[in-house]
Amino acid sequence: MTARGCTRCAELAATRTSVVFGAGNADADLMFVGEAPGANEDLQGLPFVGAAGKLLETLLGEIGLSRAEVFIANVLKCRPPGNRDPRPGEIENCTPYLISQIELVAPRVICTLGNFATKLLRADPAGITRVHGQVEVRTIGSHTARLFPIYHPAAALYTPRTMESLREDFHALPGVLGLPAPASPADAQTASGPQPPVPVTPVPAAAEPAAEQLGLF
Ligand code: URA
Repeated sequence: MTARGCTRCAELAATRTSVVFGAGNADADLMFVGEAPGANEDLQGLPFVGAAGKLLETLLGEIGLSRAEVFIANVLKCRPPGNRDPRPGEIENCTPYLISQIELVAPRVICTLGNFATKLLRADPAGITRVHGQVEVRTIGSHTARLFPIYHPAAALYTPRTMESLREDFHALPGVLGLPAPASPADAQTASGPQPPVPVTPVPAAAEPAAEQLGLF
């Protein structure tokens, strides 16, 4: 599967400068998933290189980590024109790339940044205000990881209270990274019986309605 020349979303393919696939340590314990590239990311071909990226780096530094130690990706690999919200069809088109990245990097902890990544990877419409700072085990594709939703750094840049929450959650990250590795998908399946291959499933696994039926986006 190659994203570089992807044309699944006609508008995004026609307006992007680059496909921003992701960057960092491909063997990272910690992976961040943001929303979509912005103007700077589109120009440089790298995720989180603008103001939100600077804040992400600062917060990483506060917990003794560097950008090079983690992996950073987004729900969408192409910039939505004018930084509009990702559309449901675009998320659907792009999700297979994200699932492949998660399976390849196989992080112990996935930190979802903001609503889009959180709703997608939790397979649940609950918003970030309700679920931030709460750790859960999720199976995404074939990989089981701890999910840790936090506010998007871009949102924190404009709202001091969001910044406070983001920083507090960020400082809990070393503790989340120190938790034992979550049960493997095989264990999860043993617990609930065999299940069809669903790309994003909660653990313990139950039959999951399609994302659109949940009103996810
Ligand atoms: N915001 C995101 O969600 N992703 C980026 O890569 C940059 C800003």
